[in-house]
Amino acid sequence: MTEVTFSASHGQGRGCVIHRRACFSASHRYWLPELSADDNSARFGPCALSPGHGHNYELIVSMAGGLDANGMVLNLSEVKHAIRSEVTEQLDFRFLNEAWPEFDVAKPDGCLPTTEALVRQIWQRLRPHLPITALRLYEQPGLWADYIGNAMDAFLTIRTHFAAAHRLARPELNQEENESIYGKCARPHGHGHNYLVDVTVRGKIDARTGMVCDLSALQRIVNDLVVEPFDHTFLNKDVPYFSECVPTAENIALHIADRLTTPIRAIGAHLHKVRLQESPNNAAEVYAETPQLEIMPEALQAMATH
Ligand SMILES: [Zn+2]
Ligand SMILES: [Zn+2]
Repeated sequence: MTEVTFSASHGQGRGCVIHRRACFSASHRYWLPELSADDNSARFGPCALSPGHGHNYELIVSMAGGLDANGMVLNLSEVKHAIRSEVTEQLDFRFLNEAWPEFDVAKPDGCLPTTEALVRQIWQRLRPHLPITALRLYEQPGLWADYIGNAMDAFLTIRTHFAAAHRLARPELNQEENESIYGKCARPHGHGHNYLVDVTVRGKIDARTGMVCDLSALQRIVNDLVVEPFDHTFLNKDVPYFSECVPTAENIALHIADRLTTPIRAIGAHLHKVRLQESPNNAAEVYAETPQLEIMPEALQAMATH
């Protein structure tokens, strides 16, 4: 083991991740000239409508490095300036299809300005200026893309919700024993939550459609396999799996991941993570593959001492 000694002066040389948020409003349209009008609308739904529609985008820029003698990874005014000049000034109140040449689909290598294609292009523009480690772009509060600089690999998350009741109790234990483990959650007639479900998939951004997978197909899978069967149910009684398995937030998240893994592979993506928020105070996260969106301490320290 090598001894690492840190300067006490303002944390100099120690690693840290910082985040900066920036917003812009822009419009776009999903329309490919090689497809007929019918094929465009079949493929992209209302996103194919002329002349387009808009979103209030929110961008989260994550940067890492060692602290300087002033106790900062970077001077924030330089960060703000780079994000403004490279991204928001160029995109705010613009039609994305025309804002950057990469989104000109009249050219054979043009790509539709989806959330995942856009976050990747933002990475290309910011990377020469900032030590970015991750970017997240929200198209709306229930849809966002993450990009960590891996070629065409991107992560797409959709948020949905369902309301359901449950009771936490193991059938082989008596009421007193269950209450000693699960407290009020073991009361015999159950209680309910408005659950939020975030499903994160990983995939390759298609060079033409700009999509890691067909978004409406993904939404349909989550709706058919999670929302429809779980919404307005008593999970222990209405979902056969939970007649045997205690429907804790952890078990519900795992079961959702188990239900989604194969169908998501069938649409060309990989389930990465499921996050189930049971209440403002508790949530459970499970990964269907090696986590990639968090920066590991060794990687951070390597960046800091670089
Ligand atoms: Zn849109
Ligand atoms: Zn509960």
